[in-house]
Amino acid sequence: MRLDPLQYSRIVVLTGAGISAASGLRTYRGPDGVWEEYEVEKYGHADALASRPQETWRLFGGMREPVLAVKPNAAHLALAQWEASLAPHQQFLIVTQNVDALHQRAGSKNVVELHGNIMFTKCSNSSCTLERYRDEESHHDRVPVCPKCGSVLRPDVVLFGEEIPALPSWTVKRALRDCDLFIAVGTSGLVTPAANYVRSAEYAGARTILVNLEPMNNPNLAFKEQYLGPAEKVLPELLDERPGGWLTLSTGA
Ligand SMILES: [Zn+2]
Repeated sequence: MRLDPLQYSRIVVLTGAGISAASGLRTYRGPDGVWEEYEVEKYGHADALASRPQETWRLFGGMREPVLAVKPNAAHLALAQWEASLAPHQQFLIVTQNVDALHQRAGSKNVVELHGNIMFTKCSNSSCTLERYRDEESHHDRVPVCPKCGSVLRPDVVLFGEEIPALPSWTVKRALRDCDLFIAVGTSGLVTPAANYVRSAEYAGARTILVNLEPMNNPNLAFKEQYLGPAEKVLPELLDERPGGWLTLSTGA
């Protein structure tokens, strides 16, 4: 079980929550403790931002400190090293559903954040010219206001009830159209976006791989290979690019 990185010229890797689990980001922690899933869906909804923006900030602002406190794990590092080892003609794109920016902190360069980045703040008024900016404040006790237009500021994440913005969406579609290797890591192969992306990749003729803790109970046949286990164990094995690593294995030395 090892990929030959030189065999592929257009690589797309989709990552989900499972890749950050070993970094300790499994639960949403706010100032009042761990958030329940229903609370995340309620306060993380676009409707809450419109009517009770303080709740939006209590939820997402409260995640900033734990996100800053954790480190990329072996799975993030393996992907970053893989990208760094590729030849100039090889294209490599990480598409992540995570908002923790751990891929970039691991050293990955080409990353599309489908759901935004928790460490950035932007204006809630879509026609405002304020640029999104890095912001480590939790704002859990006071809703920040835009210095340009006076609207409420918001964390730069895609809320429930909102669409993935056009640019990341378009970048991913374009990459999938001619990809020859697609790997989904730490995300269910049965739900969107993985289920849609793998269909596009399969149509393009790509090798398609799922790396996940849980097997698909109702297999998505577009995934031709499946490796089960924690991402931080499986990915480094799959992508082991130590010089001579594969040779050593194959000769049994
Ligand atoms: Zn504004």
